[in-house]
Amino acid sequence: MTVRVRFAPSPTGYLHIGGARTALYNYLYAKAVGGTFILRIEDTDLERSQAEYERLQIDDLKWLGIHHDEGPDKPNPKYAPYRQSERSEIYQKYAQVLIEKGLAYYDFCTEEELEAMKAKAEAEGRDPHYEGKWKEPQFAAEALERVKKGEKAAIRFRAYKKSYTLNDKVKGHVTYPEGMVGDFVIVRSNGLPVYNYCCVIDDMLMEITHVIRGEDHLNNTVRQLMIYEALGAKLPEFAHVSLLIGHDRQKLSKRHGATSVNLYRNEHYLPEAMCNYLCLLGWSHPDEKDIFDKTDLFKVFSLDRFSAHAAMYDIEKLKWVNGEHVKKMAIPDLISLIEQEPESEFFKKQTPEWKNSCVELLKKYAQFVTDFPKLVNELILKEKPEMTEPLKEIMSWETTPKIVAFISAEVEKAKSEFLTEAELNGWMEHVKKEMGVKGKPLFQGVRAALTGHDHGPDLKFLIPLTPVTVLKKRVEHLKG
Ligand code: GLU
Repeated sequence: MTVRVRFAPSPTGYLHIGGARTALYNYLYAKAVGGTFILRIEDTDLERSQAEYERLQIDDLKWLGIHHDEGPDKPNPKYAPYRQSERSEIYQKYAQVLIEKGLAYYDFCTEEELEAMKAKAEAEGRDPHYEGKWKEPQFAAEALERVKKGEKAAIRFRAYKKSYTLNDKVKGHVTYPEGMVGDFVIVRSNGLPVYNYCCVIDDMLMEITHVIRGEDHLNNTVRQLMIYEALGAKLPEFAHVSLLIGHDRQKLSKRHGATSVNLYRNEHYLPEAMCNYLCLLGWSHPDEKDIFDKTDLFKVFSLDRFSAHAAMYDIEKLKWVNGEHVKKMAIPDLISLIEQEPESEFFKKQTPEWKNSCVELLKKYAQFVTDFPKLVNELILKEKPEMTEPLKEIMSWETTPKIVAFISAEVEKAKSEFLTEAELNGWMEHVKKEMGVKGKPLFQGVRAALTGHDHGPDLKFLIPLTPVTVLKKRVEHLKG
């Protein structure tokens, strides 16, 4: 059996974090088993759907590196079209089949009549299921006549009176008791088909073998199971992945911060880090790894490592994951990303060797690519560091002013643009041997004199990256 999975977004907004996670799981599963990943656009809600959102969502998927094998832009003639708005005839055709078999019927009830029916049932303590006259088979001929004359009617599915048990890959056995749902509309009186119906027709015709989607669809599934049964179609496997929740354990929403992928993209998160973090929300690596690339998962992704519990969305963890991806990126790739940053003018002008050692040195402090220009400004280019309390303390030691005076004289003599590590070592030796300063007063004193900080990256790497002009300004500033 060839595995066929799908991601079926509604283009009614930006790509949501939860949607991206669903897309990722489908994509990874297809990759892991050599299957096909399909993108289907569920745009039957004509008022809310917009072509622009479809474009933006596809663009965000591409940015994440989640590439579909089939979709509106990559049609396979056997299954196309891939937009539900272009499949109306198909939905009408199957609705007719269901009507002919007596499994669905035309319903002419008005909104008011339906409301009244519901209110009456509730008042009498019955389930508010459809009880209109049109469900009775003796009205079928009359209904057909009225439709032929052009009258509008909804098409309602005759719900089976039995219980269903779904063997879900994530949730295990899910039982839907008999009578949970009454007869439900599959095509509205305005001709528009509803989600639970189109979804099954499409999954059947597109030969979807596995439906991996959010847990919020679990309640819908009973209606879908009935439609599969009515059509005599083979059921796909279902995997309803756990809900995403915020720190307050409520369903993830805008209240919890950015929930659309494009906002993370604008904030310079790395797409690999996003995928890594999203994958961990409800799935775990067989080797318990926290940090991985999508391609690492192609070999190990499976449907039996999902957690049935809600997954907490934690932006701090996402930032950490981003930092880990920054650290494991190849240096040349990192350099080219840093150079695209607006504040990297100084960085860009330096030699390849300088850039390499700068990135090697600073990456352990960076969570984002955007941190590099900031770190360069702070640690390498800042001419007048603040007089912090720890710095004042170092300056108060009797050895420090002597070290500052010596270094001040030395940097004034320096002719080149940057010091070498050997020159720095020479100064350290001098302070140690000639001035008799050792240990902490030596290291902290030299650090204070050259950087204006009481702590920071290893001096033997940092100082050769710092322009001598800056070192001069710093010592002057320190001398006051
Ligand atoms: N269009 C539905 C959604 O965006 C898809 C549900 C499904 O995967 O069946 O939630």
